[in-house]
Amino acid sequence: MNTVVVHPERCVGCLQCAAACAVAHSRTKTLYGAVSEEPRTPPRIHVGPGPATFAFPNKCRHCDPAPCMAACMPRAIGRDAPTGAVLVDPSRCIQCGMCSMACPFGVIRYRADWRVPGRPSVAVKCDNCADRQRSGRVPACVETCLVRALEFGDPNELLREETRRLARQVSVGLRQGEEARKEPPVVALWRGLGERQAAVGP
Ligand code: SF4
Ligand code: SF4
Repeated sequence: MNTVVVHPERCVGCLQCAAACAVAHSRTKTLYGAVSEEPRTPPRIHVGPGPATFAFPNKCRHCDPAPCMAACMPRAIGRDAPTGAVLVDPSRCIQCGMCSMACPFGVIRYRADWRVPGRPSVAVKCDNCADRQRSGRVPACVETCLVRALEFGDPNELLREETRRLARQVSVGLRQGEEARKEPPVVALWRGLGERQAAVGP
């Protein structure tokens, strides 16, 4: 399954992903329309300070098996077969809060949703932009993140590539460290002169 992989060490906290997410899930799907719609569509990605990084974009991992899905009694949460995304059906949500208690990542919020007018709030979370995927597009947050803190693809392949990148960085760093430890030629010259003088005597 393809999903959004987060690289928190690259995130600069610009919140472009959150804005793009809110627009992509709004009724009008335009920036102007999204800010003037009622109810206003919230983002499904949440950027806050990270435990070890300046900013951490947090979103649904589309777990398999998904604890939120198992906890949802009215079966409002299911898996989209073609994309593998875990989706909420807002018309079935009774806002019992069980899914957010079951989710280990704290990514489910309760907000008004234009798809179910008149309901004060329902469970809202990332849907991996399943609609965009069906038309061959990547999720809106990925498309907008200029520093590539969000990548879309097979997580195993993306993590393998990240491991290779880190390994390359470490080996280049080690090589640079060896170079730095080598004595500069001018120091070697003076040391040689000193040693020859010491051999000749005062
Ligand atoms: S768009 Fe990228 S850099 Fe900006 S907050 Fe989102 S993840 Fe971080
Ligand atoms: S909402 Fe939480 S538990 Fe459910 S699939 Fe997403 S990350 Fe997993």
